[in-house]
Amino acid sequence: MIGGLLKGLIATTMGKENTNSGIQNRAIYSRVSFLYQAAAFLSSSAPKAAPDAKNEEPAAAVLSSTTALAVQGISRRLTTDLRAVSLKTRIRLTPAMKHAICKFCDSVLIEGQSCTSSVENQSRGGRKPWADVLVRKCHTCGRERRYPVNAPKPKRKSERGNLAVETTVNKEREPRKGGHGG
Ligand SMILES: [Zn+2]
Repeated sequence: MIGGLLKGLIATTMGKENTNSGIQNRAIYSRVSFLYQAAAFLSSSAPKAAPDAKNEEPAAAVLSSTTALAVQGISRRLTTDLRAVSLKTRIRLTPAMKHAICKFCDSVLIEGQSCTSSVENQSRGGRKPWADVLVRKCHTCGRERRYPVNAPKPKRKSERGNLAVETTVNKEREPRKGGHGG
């Protein structure tokens, strides 16, 4: 009787584990999401040290600029944590999130506020539309990142692995094992 009950209990718990169709690592995803939102909020709500505001008291201006710096610092700290969580748990950030974080200083990049974007085309006379490159310059560290705009997407490592296996099969060799990384 009790054994049957226990069996049933184990079966249900095991069933629950097996039919866990929800997102894996839900807690980590929500943590990453929270960190990103908090960093973006702090970055966007940091008081601006307006250089042309002459009616403000100098002391107040200094205070607001130090507050702005502190808030920016907290925002960058959160982004650093986000990156650490993503690296440690090997969870891939979405390209949009990745592009919204400065690779060099971990600032949240907000268009027109903490970064400027421009499109440049270094082909002769800009004749090649697929040579458009989006240049995003971070205002915090002054460094630039470039993203191809119209170029075809590079293949993922897993897809490249499959391709390599296919070619070896075509050459009538044994398909290589362990070509699938993480
Ligand atoms: Zn930067």
